[in-house]
Amino acid sequence: MDPNTVIAVIAAHLLAMGGLMFLIGRDMPPRTGLERWSVGMLVFGSSFVARLVGGAEAATAWSLATDACVIVSTLLFISGLREFIGVDPLTRRTGLATLAACLAVEATAIAFAGHVGRFATIDIVLGFIYGALVGHAFTAPRRIEPALFVPMRVLAVTMGLLALLTLGRGLYIARHGMWAVDSGRFTQVYYAYASLCAVLLPMCLMWLLFVRLNGQLADLATRDALTRVLNRNGLNEALQRHFGSRAAPPMTLLAVDIDHFKRINDGWGHASGDLVLRAVADALARNVRPADLVARTGGEEFVVCSPAIDPAQALALAERLRAAVEALRPPLTDGRTRAQCTVSIGIAAPFAALETWPDAAAAADRALYAAKEAGRNRVVVA
Ligand code: GH3
Ligand code: MG
Ligand code: MG
Repeated sequence: MDPNTVIAVIAAHLLAMGGLMFLIGRDMPPRTGLERWSVGMLVFGSSFVARLVGGAEAATAWSLATDACVIVSTLLFISGLREFIGVDPLTRRTGLATLAACLAVEATAIAFAGHVGRFATIDIVLGFIYGALVGHAFTAPRRIEPALFVPMRVLAVTMGLLALLTLGRGLYIARHGMWAVDSGRFTQVYYAYASLCAVLLPMCLMWLLFVRLNGQLADLATRDALTRVLNRNGLNEALQRHFGSRAAPPMTLLAVDIDHFKRINDGWGHASGDLVLRAVADALARNVRPADLVARTGGEEFVVCSPAIDPAQALALAERLRAAVEALRPPLTDGRTRAQCTVSIGIAAPFAALETWPDAAAAADRALYAAKEAGRNRVVVA
């Protein structure tokens, strides 16, 4: 095996992937971690080039600077992953302290064991830093959306194997001397896997990023930005999914409208009105079952759809929602005043197919109108 060729291939992978990720990152929203990963890849790739230029034998200022680049790049990976999972990236101070500690350990090893000390130490140190990255990836599912579990696990396993191999290589070099830096079956496996990782890791990161962006896009298209409940489009999709399944139970539709909402807007301002809208939407969402749908279909109008409930259960649900809103005291924008509001609710007869949804909505609206006529803050069944 010609080690220089292998190192050149890994450097080319890292530099090309890092450059591409950097360009892609410019079109991405902020705080995806991609910027740190791409710079990390570029620095890592550059360190391999520096290694080619400086050679493996010398333990000089150049070689220490090369190893510093390797450590900095892996710290950038950790920082990028932290940013992606929503934890503060490493501070400059932590980064510099870690770098200084690693270089101090390496310099000591060089003083005692020369070149072998250098190569064994840098791999052992790297193995531990990769291990920290794996730790972040394995514990990330506590903080990230479920759709990211699989790519995050793949990243953790990919990096976990790299951590073990790198640690193993450090020990292998310590045991077999300088010969093992570029020779031997173990080193061959290590280099093969390292070059694979230079391609696998960016793919894993892009996978994570695309799954997240896809989720955000779907969210934007189906959820109301102010209240976070479904919008019309989201409700339509959810009903399509519901009635698309075999033997889907009929849906009972409740039309919910805030009473005299205009007075809240007129008296306290539009921003306070928005706070009340949010509070009401939260109250509705909190008081339904997981299978129920809550959507904002107009300014201060909501729809609740509940599968497989009989008229008595529908009435009980509507009454629960009405009472929950009546009990709310949402704070207004001044932070001191608390609003009070009520809702009127109209219930339609259950509908069993997507096509009859408009009829059910019209019936629920008529019942809602009757509730308003009868004095508001009440439930009327169509
Ligand atoms: P009723 O009891 O008959 O339903 O009276 P209302 O005042 O609630 O109904 P109306 O339809 O007269 O007024 C609804 C108000 O909701 C008017 C509109 O300015 C306000 N509105 C609509 N969308 C929003 C919004 O996103 N934010 C805020 N703050 N107000 C909104
Ligand atoms: Mg209203
Ligand atoms: Mg209205």
